[in-house]
Amino acid sequence: MTHTPVLIAGAGPTGLVLALWLTKIGIKVRIIDKAVEKETTSRALVIHARTLEFYRQLQISDDVIKAGFKFPALNLWVNHKPRARVQLADVGQGLTPFPYIIILPQDQHEDLLLNKLKELGVEVERGTELIAFEQNENAVTAEIRKGDSAIETITADYLAGCDGTHSIVRKKIEVGFEGSTYPHMFYVADVIGHGPALNGELHVSLDKSEFMAFFPLKQTGHARLIGIIREDQKTEQKKDPAWEDINPRLLREMDVTIEQVKWFSKYRVHHRLASHFQKDRVFILGDASHIHSPLGGQGMNTGIGDAVNLAWKLGEVLNGNFEERLLSSYETERISFAKQLVQTTDRAFRFISNNGPIARFVRTKAIPLILPRIFKRASTGSFVFRTLSQTGITYNPHPLNTVTELQTGDRLPWIESVDNFKFLQSLDWQVHIYGDRTIESKYRIHYFTWNDEMKEKRLRKDAAYLIRPDGHIAEIL
Ligand SMILES: Cc1cc2nc3c(=O)[nH]c(=O)nc-3n(C[C@H](O)[C@H](O)[C@H](O)COP(=O)(O)OP(=O)(O)OC[C@H]3O[C@@H](n4cnc5c(N)ncnc54)[C@H](O)[C@@H]3O)c2cc1C
Repeated sequence: MTHTPVLIAGAGPTGLVLALWLTKIGIKVRIIDKAVEKETTSRALVIHARTLEFYRQLQISDDVIKAGFKFPALNLWVNHKPRARVQLADVGQGLTPFPYIIILPQDQHEDLLLNKLKELGVEVERGTELIAFEQNENAVTAEIRKGDSAIETITADYLAGCDGTHSIVRKKIEVGFEGSTYPHMFYVADVIGHGPALNGELHVSLDKSEFMAFFPLKQTGHARLIGIIREDQKTEQKKDPAWEDINPRLLREMDVTIEQVKWFSKYRVHHRLASHFQKDRVFILGDASHIHSPLGGQGMNTGIGDAVNLAWKLGEVLNGNFEERLLSSYETERISFAKQLVQTTDRAFRFISNNGPIARFVRTKAIPLILPRIFKRASTGSFVFRTLSQTGITYNPHPLNTVTELQTGDRLPWIESVDNFKFLQSLDWQVHIYGDRTIESKYRIHYFTWNDEMKEKRLRKDAAYLIRPDGHIAEIL
């Protein structure tokens, strides 16, 4: 029987980032995936700033940015006419080294993560399924099956279930997955074409009867369409309509011509949250623990956030630096974030898909009027950016909106004038002192000369900030 410190079930973005961070800090992993071949569809497109900050720590942000492209603007259409435009390029200026949204299809994103892992000597074991496991106070014993070959039994200190929506790990630890499925059926199509809504920007039609979004892809004329399948498109004979059946009339009305449909899929949207993310030595992360509407492109980014949160904690415990109870903070921190996310995306999604007169009025009249103003005002624009990009995340259990200074659990703010984030690439604990102060610490201390930007970003002069490996404030001295 072989032993591994961490067994990762599932090599989607969540499992790959977990494997990458652990490997970078010297923890051995085995990462298995039951799929024989890697997924080749584009699925999640949006990479937000908080994920790019983690990728900078892992030294892969440059490659991701080079492979993707920056989202320039959002256009709102009503009654097949463009009604409002919001500039999104550099919308989070000053808040993060990555003040934009990157578009990169999930298959290409995963290729990049896989290549980085390979460079570090880790290969995903494909066609290898986790079929059973049990745990005691010392280890997890797992049965994995590779293709038709015999079952291999391995032991691991910890098991990470990154095995997606239908997670076997979640089922076996018997935690609930409460929530529901929305009645609407959605379609997604990667297309090549031309027309005003295929100009490399995001276009969202808030039409009275039909919702449709055009996400730009890197190549000119390429886009991802997302829409709701109308009831009249689901006839008795066509319960399972194809693109030809949908052929949205909105496209004609918006003067869009589709030349080729490269990928077409339909899906139902769910919102569900696992009641626990941990049972002793077993954890669930990513879609295995939370699923919600794709509004705002939060799903994949949240899974990656889970992976980073758990990775450094597993590292500390396996290296003997912390007691095992550190691991329980993974669930505390990530479940409250996921809960909030599921609730917010649920409310927003119900609103988008509601066809009542008030919702229609707000969608077609109020939003096109208000949204550009929100983004024009620095304070409201940066609030929206911080929320969507997940850079506003805090692990403080009692976040106070009125606080004038940072609290423990907050993400360390980025100080552009000194680029304090470059030191986070060590993936280790560190102390930051903004101003003058002499202290002793077993961790590396970084000193920064005090300036106005630090004050603006709510740092306290001469305080010492103990920073966790994931860039959150652990203690203020
Ligand atoms: C059509 C579509 C469009 C989407 N669009 C968006 C979007 O626009 N924005 C967004 O944020 N998200 C979107 N998503 C969701 C996004 O793809 C997921 O949030 C993301 O893939 C979750 O990553 P994950 O690693 O947690 O899980 P997954 O990517 O689901 O990976 C789970 C992996 O586990 C493997 N596995 C399962 N069971 C086992 C087992 N027993 N043993 C070993 N391996 C196992 C699977 O083969 C799979 O590779 C979309 C999804 C789909 C299907």
